[in-house]
Amino acid sequence: MTTTSTGVSASSTRRLLGGVQSDAARHEAVHGPLPHLGLDELLRLVEASGLTGRGGAGFPTAIKVRAVASGARRPVVVGNAMEGEPLSHKDAVLLDRSPHLVLDGLQVLARALRAKRAVLAVGPEIDAGPVQAAARGRRGIEVAHLDGGFVAGQETALVNQLNGRSALPRDPFTRVTESGVDGRPTLVLNAETLAQVALIARHGADWFRSAGTADDSGTSLFTVSGAVGRPGVVEAARASRLRDVLEATEPRRPAAVLVGGYHGAWVPATHLDVRLTRSELAPWNAAVGAGVLYVLDDRTCPLRYAAEVADYLAGESAAQCGPCINGLPQMAADLHRLAACVRDQRLPVAVARMAGLVKGRGACAHPDGTARFVGSTLEVFRDHTAAHLQGWCPSTMRPTTRGM
Ligand code: SF4
Repeated sequence: MTTTSTGVSASSTRRLLGGVQSDAARHEAVHGPLPHLGLDELLRLVEASGLTGRGGAGFPTAIKVRAVASGARRPVVVGNAMEGEPLSHKDAVLLDRSPHLVLDGLQVLARALRAKRAVLAVGPEIDAGPVQAAARGRRGIEVAHLDGGFVAGQETALVNQLNGRSALPRDPFTRVTESGVDGRPTLVLNAETLAQVALIARHGADWFRSAGTADDSGTSLFTVSGAVGRPGVVEAARASRLRDVLEATEPRRPAAVLVGGYHGAWVPATHLDVRLTRSELAPWNAAVGAGVLYVLDDRTCPLRYAAEVADYLAGESAAQCGPCINGLPQMAADLHRLAACVRDQRLPVAVARMAGLVKGRGACAHPDGTARFVGSTLEVFRDHTAAHLQGWCPSTMRPTTRGM
């Protein structure tokens, strides 16, 4: 039950990636006109659909909308297409293939909430051309092309940037639903979430629930990359098996799959039948997040890969909190020594200890996400780590002469 952006179709499910690009007439011919819905009606539909945010946190969308609607001032609605995660391309593909759906979601919410502003924030990695063209015929929709980076899409960093400040996460104690863009209650929803809202507004909650399960409804976009023959963006029913989502992309000799991107966790290839749900992924400390799946093959050293990712994540912090300034670089450095087969038996403990120390200590979840990824690497590749400590790498079968 998947379709990919490369045109491979493994089923008839093609809700989000219809491919009408910025052609408004074709968009309306495919999807029908966007209804005018009052707030109560829209909230009822979104709530009944069970839609959850597709940007990472998976928070129920109706609760977020309700929080903003209860504010004292007219709110601002923001579409988040920052896509700072290097392994994610779903927002880019969605905005290329179906920009009107995203704008429809923004518009139907902005109307229902009587929003003061409706802004689609687009990161630098995304070609904003199609969505800018699509937005031209719509009144009151702004497309903002913003600076990027791994944490730039974080809700408070995005609000900061729209307020003319740098793209740094701010303190987590002021909720953007209370005070965000221009000091107004602000609803920030991922671009895919907006497209799902647009479909729910047209087709209703039962239609939405005809894919997925009672607890995890609808479809999601997954970006699949790494050791696959056909990397791309796959649309699949929620709660699909990992194996089924990967199938159309032709994985090659998978050893494990990183679920959830650089802040995610590994699922070993021996467990590809796991369903992509919160409960089935919990034993791996993984979550669907923004739908990023990276396939690692059995000839690539997971420690080397993880050390490079940890380096990147250490460099992407906003460097304003202790765990990011001190903890992440130290964790990455120790991981590099492990990857290099340095025979220091204290290294795994040092890495795990640092991962424990940085958790919950930052102004945003960047240290926690990095610690999750590093901790998962040590856990899932425990045998691999043991081999490195003995001076050889099972992936490359390369012995090493490096000592302490
Ligand atoms: S925890 Fe790290 S990334 Fe987050 S705000 Fe602090 S320094 Fe920036």
